[in-house]
Amino acid sequence: MRSEQEIPIFTNPGKEILGQDAIQFLRNLGRTSWIDIKGVDESRSRVITTLLHGNEPSGLLSLHRWLLTNPRPVTNICVLIGAVDTALELPIFAHRMLPHQRDFNRCFRAPFDGLQGRLARSIIERLELLQPECICDIHNTSGTGPSFVIATADGTQTRVLAEKFCRRMIVTDFRLGSVMELKVGCPAITIECGGAQDSEADEVASQGLECIATEDDLFMQGNGSDMYDLPDELEVLFSPLRVELVPVATIAYEEEPSELADVSITPTIEHQNYGVTHQDYRLGWVGAGGLPSLSARDAAGQEQVHTLLREDNGWIYPAQNLRIFMATTNATIAATDCLFYAVPAN
Ligand SMILES: [Zn+2]
Repeated sequence: MRSEQEIPIFTNPGKEILGQDAIQFLRNLGRTSWIDIKGVDESRSRVITTLLHGNEPSGLLSLHRWLLTNPRPVTNICVLIGAVDTALELPIFAHRMLPHQRDFNRCFRAPFDGLQGRLARSIIERLELLQPECICDIHNTSGTGPSFVIATADGTQTRVLAEKFCRRMIVTDFRLGSVMELKVGCPAITIECGGAQDSEADEVASQGLECIATEDDLFMQGNGSDMYDLPDELEVLFSPLRVELVPVATIAYEEEPSELADVSITPTIEHQNYGVTHQDYRLGWVGAGGLPSLSARDAAGQEQVHTLLREDNGWIYPAQNLRIFMATTNATIAATDCLFYAVPAN
């Protein structure tokens, strides 16, 4: 019997595995799986990971469509389909992770505890063997919003890779144990395709996948590939802060102050994922508890919430004009992960 952390590899799977649709495909896999597609050049590999969060299907959906075309990419493409069991838990594509599980995309560093940790270690071991040219980890944002790439280091190769998917890149100082933090000798990025419900999100994943599968030299710049309308300018934002609830605080998404929660955030906060949030924009209410209900520590652990937010008569406003992204109205995600990321707009 296979051990639970042993990840099966399906090479050039046919219809019996791919099924009619992505859900049938997941049912046929049944567990975390690698899908290997042999390339014209079998000496090189590129890696795509996706569905590490069960409620973020854009990467899976675009990959499944691509796999059905019986593709022959320029190099081997090795795809890791992550939280298959979580995605299949009813209602389908509704759970980031199951209640008894760790967040899969926080498990890519020691200690490799629990099933997700052991699977992550197995994935890392394969990546070290593969020595891929790139690692692209495809996600959806929790709320609606534009697509962007997250990377842990800026650099020409990382930027060129990011541009294959979208126009924005965020360089983060945080180390949370995610796939993109792995150092296996190639650029690694997270692609946030926008919300799972956003119609453009699957297209972001498909466009990037097409580039990864067809471009012989991935890092050649200005290769005239206007076929996919690739942007020639990438907006890069550095060192965002994560605005979090402090452990004892509770949150509600209501326009007016909630009597049941310490923090109320406007239910239209997701609109702020686009453009600049002006310092006069009312983000919500913290009441008598004030800003100590919220925290925004930088990567060095210093509290920076006052750099981002101010309180005026119990209401929360930006302390300066902000670029907000990954704002969610899912109270569970806000409480267990963060309310939003932000950087000063100038
Ligand atoms: Zn995710």
